[in-house]
Amino acid sequence: MIQFLDIKKINLLHLEEIERKLVDVFRSGWYVLGSEVETFEKSLKEYLGSENVIGVANGLDALRLIFKAYIELGLMKAGDEIIVPANTYIASILAISDNQLVPVLVEPNADTFNLDLNLIEDHITEKTKAILVVHLYGRVCFEEKINHLKEKYGLKIIEDNAQAIGAEWNGKKTGTLGDAAGFSFYPGKNLGALGDGGAVSTNDCELAKTIREIANYGSSKKYVNDCKGVNSRLDEIQAAVLNIKLKYLDGENEKRRIIAKRYLSEIKNELIQLPENPTNEKEHVWHLFVIRTKIRTELQQYLSENGIQTLIHYPIPPHKQKAYPELNKLSLPITEYIHEEVLSLPISPVLSEAEVGDIINFLNQKQND
Ligand SMILES: *Cc1c(COP(=O)(O)O)cnc(C)c1O
Repeated sequence: MIQFLDIKKINLLHLEEIERKLVDVFRSGWYVLGSEVETFEKSLKEYLGSENVIGVANGLDALRLIFKAYIELGLMKAGDEIIVPANTYIASILAISDNQLVPVLVEPNADTFNLDLNLIEDHITEKTKAILVVHLYGRVCFEEKINHLKEKYGLKIIEDNAQAIGAEWNGKKTGTLGDAAGFSFYPGKNLGALGDGGAVSTNDCELAKTIREIANYGSSKKYVNDCKGVNSRLDEIQAAVLNIKLKYLDGENEKRRIIAKRYLSEIKNELIQLPENPTNEKEHVWHLFVIRTKIRTELQQYLSENGIQTLIHYPIPPHKQKAYPELNKLSLPITEYIHEEVLSLPISPVLSEAEVGDIINFLNQKQND
């Protein structure tokens, strides 16, 4: 059986190093916001080339805290609109609505799966305060056009970088392209912890200070609370694991690229539509390799019968979810057919060449019946 993502195998690559470090943290007696978190914030800052990194509890919180801080700073208020891709993972949208901001869903491009940048301007109103760009599936969603819109309309650009850590656009890492970015270290992400974890990066020092405060009960000094905060802290065990795994991230992303390259050149079946490969390979870290097919149910069943596990990211678009009755009436045809056709193939730094070969062979042998 070829697993979709063998997280255990990925982490076992670093067994000795992680085991030793976990014992150190255990023996230190200090478990939340300590030296491991400080080291991680510093290392990630250097890795990204960013002014500030704040470790938080998870990726959703990272995004929620960015909006919360803008509200605290008086730059956004309830009812303001945030542009977001309609086919993103629900977390991007929850981060907006949780702050009483209004998500304005914009259709993606079906070949890149990323926000169609040509459609943004039509959705900008006087209430628009930001664009939440999502580097979906690990592919950069950024062009000079975004900077033009930012200037023209005085918008904030926020990046949902949960799926694209390590990707680059124009020599800059994702997470440093806009005003602020949220990262997730959920175990299945390209940089995964042994539990939940997240971070915010920003070059805006005032925003960083506000986020740090809000994430720790609205307090910059113990028992002094300057605003109504929340509890969203990164713990030492997760930071210790991330400190180890960050060193291997580029190498692991490179392994994903090699697999993606093989899929792109060797899968040849007219029933399968391959994702578009960016001209600059640094613009993709292949968190997911997502194909489109009109025979999804059948193809998934066939692959499963042949020992290959696939997943669907995502089966139901956010505007069709019960959680968002206020969005249910929207018509977003591209988003809707994408959700009917997408299928994610196994891709990871521990997938072997033979396994990739098997997956390609089975896909190429599939005929319409
Ligand atoms: C995983 C993910 C998140 C949320 O991260 P968590 O750590 O699970 O809270 C946000 N946005 C996208 C696009 C994601 O894939």
